Amino acid sequence: MNELFPSKFLKALENLLGKERLLKEKEDLFSYSYDSSSLIRLPSAVALPERKEEVIEILRLAQEYKVPIVPRGAGTATTGSPLAHKGGLVICFSRMDRILEFNEEERIVRVEPGVLNGELKKFLKKYGFFYPPDPSSYEFSTIGGNVATGAGGPRGLKYGTTKDYVLALEVVLPGGKVLKTGPSTLKCVVPYNLTSLFVGSEGTLGVFTEIVLKVIPLPQKRILFVSAHEREEEPLEIITEILRKKLTPACAEFIDKTTILALSKSKGSLPIFENKNFSSLLYLELDGEGEILEKEKVLIERFYKDLGISFEKAEDESDIENLWEIRRTISPSLKVLGKKRFAEDVVVPRRFMKDLLFKIRKLEKDWGLYICCFGHAGDGNFHVNILFDSENEESAIKVRENVLKEVIELSGTISGEHGIGYIKRGFVNWELSPLQIEIMKKLKKVFDPEGILNPQVKIPD
Ligand SMILES: Cc1cc2nc3c(=O)[nH]c(=O)nc-3n(C[C@H](O)[C@H](O)[C@H](O)COP(=O)(O)OP(=O)(O)OC[C@H]3O[C@@H](n4cnc5c(N)ncnc54)[C@H](O)[C@@H]3O)c2cc1C
Repeated sequence: MNELFPSKFLKALENLLGKERLLKEKEDLFSYSYDSSSLIRLPSAVALPERKEEVIEILRLAQEYKVPIVPRGAGTATTGSPLAHKGGLVICFSRMDRILEFNEEERIVRVEPGVLNGELKKFLKKYGFFYPPDPSSYEFSTIGGNVATGAGGPRGLKYGTTKDYVLALEVVLPGGKVLKTGPSTLKCVVPYNLTSLFVGSEGTLGVFTEIVLKVIPLPQKRILFVSAHEREEEPLEIITEILRKKLTPACAEFIDKTTILALSKSKGSLPIFENKNFSSLLYLELDGEGEILEKEKVLIERFYKDLGISFEKAEDESDIENLWEIRRTISPSLKVLGKKRFAEDVVVPRRFMKDLLFKIRKLEKDWGLYICCFGHAGDGNFHVNILFDSENEESAIKVRENVLKEVIELSGTISGEHGIGYIKRGFVNWELSPLQIEIMKKLKKVFDPEGILNPQVKIPD
């Protein structure tokens, strides 16, 4: 047993969880050694708690023995944030997946961290309610992971992201103290907002055992427009125009020409706008009900017809889902353009999206690498994926640096929703001032004085 993982600690954990819920064998640990980045890090052991009392005891023991702790939901992060970078104990929350309370009158739901976002959506739908944050991974990522990364998704444009729905948290701190961050009321200013501090903290400040979320009534109907564009940047202009018309679509998703190439190559041909020449797509979804929705639909139809833009419209739920399926398969399709990738999730003010796209096209040409640029353009949030093979990794590193520099020059941010994790830590000081970083380091020490919570993640050394 190595120094980071004393045998007394292991014994105490075994007494607490039993052999079945404390994984130690290499073949079991392997399943917890990766996420959606390309990193592989084998943890020393994995704990599978079922009750918060067990989490409290684990955190108490971890502090005593100074063992690194890495909380984990479904392991879909793209940044290496749920990985044990220098060994340590992974606490996986897959067995703490109960919906504890739904209060229709207060419009809140209280859940354990391992509840899948998709399961929560299904549960609420039965009551005509809705939890809007919808990372494209919603079917298989957990609420705990979503809160810890501050996850966003296509619906961010109209409904905001995870941060807009978390009302209160129950957090276990190193040493086993339990912190409740707020009442479950819609408002509270007594005195600092600790809940907000934990949203997006990537498991570096505390471990969530309960989460209280705001929910809203489910919109009655949605209408999806998918349009094809000869000029690649046209969708970005259209988003601006539509927002100027005071319309707020639920989603405005952009797909650029390199992503279309990846989709077409991996599928043989794209199952939309066959026999048409186009270099980008725009997904525009409206939701709501009655006359207002009808009016918005007519407005978009007229707008597209006046501009001579080809579009498909879907009002039936299964047609809508079939069209979204194309968008959802982007991530696995990108492999056809390169075995490896850097997946950035940058945000720039909407007015600079075109500038960023042009810059990316220039980098693609200058360096001879495929760069896909797709995502939540309604929020100014592009998923920039640089595809490469081992022999051109050096070029990909340079391209990545250029993209991030450009984003910061355009008053943007290097991560809108996926987080910093391990792989973007080196770029944090490009965006933040030394004072900001100093304050964040002090905050980390307040919650985690021994530095045992998710070390090597988020804050630069
Ligand atoms: C195909 C695909 C599409 C995606 N699309 C999106 C998207 O549209 N928007 C988006 O925002 N992200 C997206 N992601 C990234 C990822 O799904 C999100 O970051 C998600 O929120 C991670 O949830 P998870 O349950 O997998 O958490 P994990 O990956 O297991 O963990 C993520 C972070 O949460 C921490 N954590 C987990 N549980 C707890 C807990 N109980 N207490 C404290 N910390 C905890 C971990 O330590 C880690 O830092 C996508 C990923 C994939 C693979």
